[in-house]
Amino acid sequence: MIYSPLSVPSIIRFAAENHSDQEIVSRLNGGAMHRYSYADCYQRIAKLANALQALGVTKGDVVGTIAWNSYQHVELYYAISGIGAICHTINPRMGADRLAWVVAHAQDKLVFFDSQFSSMIDAAGTINSVNHWIALEADSKKNWLPPHSVKPLFYETLINEQRSNIDWPDLDENTSCGLCYTSGTTGKPKGVCYTHRSTVLHAMAICMTDVLGLSAMETILPVVPMFHVNAWGLPYGAPMSGAKLVLPGPMLDGESLANLIDQENVTSAYGVPTVWMGLLDYLDRTGRQLPSLKRLVSGGSAVSGDMLQRFREDYGVTVINAWGMTETSPVGTVNMPKQRSQNISQAESDALALKQGRGVFGLEMRLADTENRPLPRDGQATGELQVRGHWVTEGYLHQADLDALTEDGWFRTGDIASIDPQGYMHISDRAKDMIKSGGEWISSIELENAALSHPGVAQAAVIAVPHPKWQERPLLIACRSQTDAIAATDLRDYVATQLEKWMVPDAVEFIDEMPLGATGKIDKVQLRKIYQDYRLKE
Ligand code: ADP
Repeated sequence: MIYSPLSVPSIIRFAAENHSDQEIVSRLNGGAMHRYSYADCYQRIAKLANALQALGVTKGDVVGTIAWNSYQHVELYYAISGIGAICHTINPRMGADRLAWVVAHAQDKLVFFDSQFSSMIDAAGTINSVNHWIALEADSKKNWLPPHSVKPLFYETLINEQRSNIDWPDLDENTSCGLCYTSGTTGKPKGVCYTHRSTVLHAMAICMTDVLGLSAMETILPVVPMFHVNAWGLPYGAPMSGAKLVLPGPMLDGESLANLIDQENVTSAYGVPTVWMGLLDYLDRTGRQLPSLKRLVSGGSAVSGDMLQRFREDYGVTVINAWGMTETSPVGTVNMPKQRSQNISQAESDALALKQGRGVFGLEMRLADTENRPLPRDGQATGELQVRGHWVTEGYLHQADLDALTEDGWFRTGDIASIDPQGYMHISDRAKDMIKSGGEWISSIELENAALSHPGVAQAAVIAVPHPKWQERPLLIACRSQTDAIAATDLRDYVATQLEKWMVPDAVEFIDEMPLGATGKIDKVQLRKIYQDYRLKE
């Protein structure tokens, strides 16, 4: 066979040739819509790649982006990687200090930014590695305040001066093309580098029917941000399959998403459970339906059975649970049905839907106990989930001291899981979130799901608090769906009906707003800080 290295720009070139008129639609800051085709996109990518080279960017350089999901962000993904540089997507929600830390740690040479983040750039202060900050606005649109600390260049001005054709350099397929830092929910951010090879293979995998099933017949909406794990690879999978790509910009509330889904006839959308709860609440309040929408893929944290059921019964939308990590590019498992799923009861099907899903060819899974001995795939045994495969990292950027792998080369996820004989993996918790009560482990996810099945509860999180006798006991923290929807003692009684007695949370606290981390997940580190002096009585 002819050997041809896997390369990221070949994806968008393919789309420009084979799906030239398929659309990329973006909602911009302020709400205006931008639409163009894969062919237009490819031309601008070539111009941008020429502009990057004119600015002195060469192979191996790191170029940062601080941007929402938009067509310009797609252009940056491809142009930066195409010339052999590394596209470092920066999560703006992590705050100025962390932003300064990751830009300096990664040694970003240029940083492209949405004007909305200019005050954060000011707060981050001078970062020596950065030669230029480049605003994604056109020079003429001076209706925003540029950062005081930097004199930005302007994206549109830069690319307008360039030719719209380019000969992509030949690159080894193991060249780095992307960089994403973990959101740091369990510690300091760690940088994961993706390669051309891993990115293309991951994109091919997500297109498969039983993975995300992308196709030229679909219109997809990645709500999951392009600044975190490449929006699950969708900006690569969409052009590879010819799907229409709809990019939501910064407005991610229920109403804005419903409007976009309706207006663009979105067939599938991708995001974290908190985003889908926001959409569900909006639909419930307004009685609105979304006829084009067939499925929502939910990942990043566990889904509740209640949410799945309400979307299915009230809106005809299937919610599919999927699992992954920054370190796994991210897609690891997707909960897609099998023939045998058609012959099971609704109750069995509901229980199955809460699992994180079955394996994807290209990524292997195994379970290990605390001594790293293998555990059976019997659906019962739980242990650490370990993975390896074409799009799993072997370590972290400039942090060689962090041991990511076992001695025999498997990545340690830190998730505690079981795998059933059908291959469906089920996460009971993150190792760090488990509650160890009198030597027995309690899964925070199980308790949260029990609380979320009550209509008066909008969000729930369980953390461990110290206990004089049992060392740790669960504390349930919840947000009500409406004021006075339920009292603390009633909620405790309610969850007690669904759990073993020793697992029932010792106390329930209500808060008005749940702290969310940089990727929209509940921030348990923050909750632990808030409740660090919380004491339970014996
Ligand atoms: P961070 O580790 O910084 O939170 P990631 O986005 O990489 O950033 O998070 C990966 C983790 O998220 C997984 O290890 C797992 O604990 C959790 N996770 C991802 N998807 C799911 C899911 N469907 N159900 C439960 N937990 C999930």
